Amino acid sequence: MVRPIMKDPVFLAQKSAPASAEDREVAADLMDTLLAHRDGCVGMAANMIGVNKRVIVFEDGDAYRTMFNPEIVKSSGAFETEEGCLSLAGTRRTRRFRSVKVRYQNEQMQERFKTFTGWTAQIIQHEIDHLNGILI
Ligand SMILES: [Zn+2]
Repeated sequence: MVRPIMKDPVFLAQKSAPASAEDREVAADLMDTLLAHRDGCVGMAANMIGVNKRVIVFEDGDAYRTMFNPEIVKSSGAFETEEGCLSLAGTRRTRRFRSVKVRYQNEQMQERFKTFTGWTAQIIQHEIDHLNGILI
């Protein structure tokens, strides 16, 4: 189900709580909402649809991926860039890493580790910031 985009800065500044298997429906709604905005948006965190749980969805090349409780365990290659966000007007400058290793749980709640680089790595960093209450 496509949900409205949360734009309240006070709500978005809250740190999200750990997600569990019970949040699968949230993940499905988040994916539906991302796909509805795919023209201007490449990733979303659950708080962007008003749910303070650690779930993100994002574009990964030709596919879309869902992660529960993602955490960056290793990063390298810092660079300065500019990003936009569906929950904000305009763009802002930020610092990102070219390569990140992420620990997360998949939709079966199995723990996984995966290294991402380039654009996908940048999207993941932006979405994990959302989980920590950070807007670019
Ligand atoms: Zn954002």
